[in-house]
Amino acid sequence: MSLFKTIFTGSNQAFEAAKGAVNQIIDKKGRDQKVAFPSTAYFLPIIYAATGTKIKTVGDLEAALDVVKSLIVEEENLDKALNAGLATAVSAEIIEAVKYASNDDPYSDETGIGFVTDPVIRSLGVPLVTGDIPGIAVIIGKARDSEAAGRIIKDYQSKGLLTFLVGDIIDQACEAGVKMGLELRVIPLGQDVTSVIHVVSVAIRAALIFGNIEPGNLDEFLAYTKERVPAFVNVFGPLSELVVSCGAGAIAMGFPVICDTDVPEVPTYLLTQKDYEKTVQTSLEARGIKIKITELPIPVAFAAAFEGERIRKDDMFVEFGGSKTKSWELVMAKDMGEIEDHKIEVIGADIDTIEEVPGRLPLAVLVEVAGKNMQEDFEPVLERRLHYFINYIEGAMHVGQRDITWIRISKDAYGKGLRLKHIGEVIYAKMLDEFDSVVDKCQVTIITDEEKVKKLAKEYAVPRYNARDERLASLTDESVDTFYSCNLCQSFAPAHVCVVTPERLGLCGAVSWLDAKATKELDQHGPCQPIPKEGLEDETLGIWEEVNKAVDEISQGAVSRVTLYSLLVDPMTSCGCFECICGIMPESNGVVIVNREYGGQTPVGMTFGELASMTGGGVQTPGFMGHGRHFISSKKFIRAEGGIKRIVWMPKELKDYVRDKLDATAKEMYGIENFTDMICDETIAVDSDGVLNYLNEKGHPALTMDPMM
Ligand code: SF4
Ligand code: ZN
Repeated sequence: MSLFKTIFTGSNQAFEAAKGAVNQIIDKKGRDQKVAFPSTAYFLPIIYAATGTKIKTVGDLEAALDVVKSLIVEEENLDKALNAGLATAVSAEIIEAVKYASNDDPYSDETGIGFVTDPVIRSLGVPLVTGDIPGIAVIIGKARDSEAAGRIIKDYQSKGLLTFLVGDIIDQACEAGVKMGLELRVIPLGQDVTSVIHVVSVAIRAALIFGNIEPGNLDEFLAYTKERVPAFVNVFGPLSELVVSCGAGAIAMGFPVICDTDVPEVPTYLLTQKDYEKTVQTSLEARGIKIKITELPIPVAFAAAFEGERIRKDDMFVEFGGSKTKSWELVMAKDMGEIEDHKIEVIGADIDTIEEVPGRLPLAVLVEVAGKNMQEDFEPVLERRLHYFINYIEGAMHVGQRDITWIRISKDAYGKGLRLKHIGEVIYAKMLDEFDSVVDKCQVTIITDEEKVKKLAKEYAVPRYNARDERLASLTDESVDTFYSCNLCQSFAPAHVCVVTPERLGLCGAVSWLDAKATKELDQHGPCQPIPKEGLEDETLGIWEEVNKAVDEISQGAVSRVTLYSLLVDPMTSCGCFECICGIMPESNGVVIVNREYGGQTPVGMTFGELASMTGGGVQTPGFMGHGRHFISSKKFIRAEGGIKRIVWMPKELKDYVRDKLDATAKEMYGIENFTDMICDETIAVDSDGVLNYLNEKGHPALTMDPMM
């Protein structure tokens, strides 16, 4: 059979299967049965993107079947073949949607996770734009042997890729001992081939969320996924017609397909690579993904994918801190002459002296750096990376920062030879690697001697932390003469620019003013550029001529005016990866704030995902704005509209997170005690009346403020 014929056959099979599924559920539950994927604001995302149709009921699916049919035109040319591939994608989405319409949690009995929610996709924004996740691998089918499959998956994992598994490969991965989970970047989707649609859906929603592409404009979606979503597909095992037509769909989106069987090759798009030792290389090359490798002299793997690895008590060999022993870490800037490059010293017992497992030791990690361009202001920026460097070590876990660090090392890693000096090696290598333009020399001292840990905490660490806190407190928008732009997210949200000020961090929560300043120093032409704080137009709204000019330039004219302190007048744009979103709740004369992790309803009648879908892709949406968690307690938070006094509702978890700082700001600015308690949350009410009652009861200040609109 010709390749075209195979694709059409597969597409027709998918269509028939989708039709069968739709008819069956109509018979069983009627046309009014609701159909939706969990936690998404984009209906059936592929159908929504391709046609603009908002499918809500099983009855609506009948119309979607017509779309599928219209996409299958059996003429032997590439365009028609790719369309047929898309038809298969839409059919697969219909089939999977029917699963969710028949059963609330159709994946509960499977190893796969099925549908990937909007908040998860948003959380992937920053790691993808920073290259922390350099690409997305999709593996479908069954490899010739499980061990090789395991090696390939672990290789992707060690390179930081996000890997999705579909079909028998999931069992093979289990057999080969691959640890799976979103936090480990290996994600089993499901057994059925159709579950591959859940990764297609991720790519398409990236275009909706970050790219702000108009639903119905299929060509633009395909251009977006091709240019901006660095994904590829590995197909293992014999190819069914259905799999081949899925592959055509992938190719239509710009994702190369690499098979382990003979296929008629289409250069860069459809390739054969039978040698499993070369699968990874061929795949990365086909998609143009470059991996930066740091060779480290340690006996275990080191990869960003291990960041989320947890070490349970039973697997633990030794633990430091975690309130059981004293444990702290500190990065300190030194003069060039004061330190010796690559000196790694362990003072006190290393972990092989532990007599009883699990052992507990005190710990101090002192990292001294020197460099011509090093500034004290960068210390916290470098120090925060320690968390990642240590977590990236396979078999090591790091939680907390400063003098509340908590580190565990697993029995497994100990067995492979991991010792404290290796942690020193990792820190040394990564400091020079990531901060090469500010760190010329680095020296690491790891101390387990209790007396010394305590003594140096008093002498070095605590005074340093305090000095930094004072510096941070004194850093206000008024006290500096430079703000920074960040355009890192433009790789996904082409028109988006963040303006980062001391009192307003980037909306992803990952870029503070100090981070931006350090980033500029590290990479002169990089994502963060200084904006001179000049040409003040309006102090309350926060308008500066130079800021407007910079935003206009960096957004290529898409946005020419932004305010830094207003929600209603030219608010800052949102890319999509924001930690929180705030939106106006008119009847309360205030705003609600929702964080990404909160899945429930809010008093404005929308979930986080639905609220978030109101803004994004670098457009301004007055009344809605994405922002970082730390912005909530800022004196500049929607200052133009009256500031934090407008906050009337937040999820409980977020309230608890910001409480101390928010209370302090409210006290300082308005003399209000325990302001956070005046804010309603989901444990009190999510309906408008309930919220208003609570606000009245508490005498919430928003009720008596000037009308917001
Ligand atoms: Fe993206 Fe803004 Fe964060 Fe930069 S600061 S990474 S542009 S969200
Ligand atoms: Zn972003």
